[in-house]
Amino acid sequence: METLVPLSALAPRPRPSAKPAEPRSSEKLLRLMRKKVGQLLGDFPTLIEEGDRIMVCISGGKDSYAMLDVLLEMQKRSPVKYELIAVNIDQGWPGYDTPQIEAHLKGTGVEYRMITEDYAEIVEGMLKPGQTPCTLCSRFRRGVLYNLAEKLGCSKIALGHHADDLIETLIMNLFYSGRLASMPPLLHSDDGRNTVIRPLALVSEAVLIEYNEIRKFPVVRCGCPSCGLPAQKRQVIKRLLGSLEKDDPQIKTHMLAALRNVVPDHLMDASITRNGAKDSTSRSI
Ligand code: SF4
Repeated sequence: METLVPLSALAPRPRPSAKPAEPRSSEKLLRLMRKKVGQLLGDFPTLIEEGDRIMVCISGGKDSYAMLDVLLEMQKRSPVKYELIAVNIDQGWPGYDTPQIEAHLKGTGVEYRMITEDYAEIVEGMLKPGQTPCTLCSRFRRGVLYNLAEKLGCSKIALGHHADDLIETLIMNLFYSGRLASMPPLLHSDDGRNTVIRPLALVSEAVLIEYNEIRKFPVVRCGCPSCGLPAQKRQVIKRLLGSLEKDDPQIKTHMLAALRNVVPDHLMDASITRNGAKDSTSRSI
C-alpha cells in the first residue's frame, strides 16, 4: 500500500540560525579568488599558459575590475609568465562614463586601450518591435573583441563572468532555448582564431560583491536600455534562484558542481551518446 507523506514533511526545513559572518579583508578575498582560479587551472591547464598575452575585457562592472585585480596579483606570483592588456569598448550607449574606467585602469599601471565602436545605434535600428537588443549587441561585441584581440596580438580574451552567471545561463538555456548549455571557462572559436577564457568561473557573485564593497570600484553602467531590467530573463532567473536559495543555501553550489559532473549517457542527445562529443555549430561566448 502507498505510504502517504504528511504535508508537514514537505514544508521547508528551518535552517539553523547562522552566525553573522565576519567581514573579510580585500587580501583574504583576493586570496580566495586566486585559489578558485587555481582550482579552475587544475581542470583547464591551458587556461593561462607561458607566453600568453591576455586581453582583459573591462566593462566598468565590479566583476571585470575584480578579474583584473586577480590576474594582476597572479601575474606577480606565478612562475608562468604572461602579459595583460586591459581593453574597454564603448558600444555607444548614451551616458557610458568611460573616463572613470580609464582613470581606474591608469591607476593599476596595466597596459590598456580605450576603444570606441558605436554600434548601439545600428543595433537599435535593426530591432524588430518587442525584440530586446541583447542578442544582437552580444553578436556585435563578439566580432569586435575577436578582431581586436588579433590586432593587439592577444592569445586569449578574458571575460569577467562568474559562477552565478554560468548557473543562470544554464537555467536560461534550459527554460527558454531548448539547450543544455552554459558558458565554458575555456572556448576556442570555431575558426580557431581566438580563445576565450573565464577565470572567475568558480567565483561566486557574493564574493565579488563583498570585494567591491571594500575596493569601491568606479562601477559604471553600460547605459543600454535593457541592462538590469526586472523583466530581463536573467533577472527572472536570478529571482527564482534567490527564492530557492532561501530553502536550500547550497543550491548554487550543487548547480555549479553539476556543470563539472555531466553524465551525457543520462541525457537524450543522440549525437553525444554515439560519438562521445557534441557536434555544435551554435556556440556563444
Ligand atoms: S544588457 Fe545591454 S549591453 Fe548587455 S547585451 Fe544587452 S543590450 Fe548589450
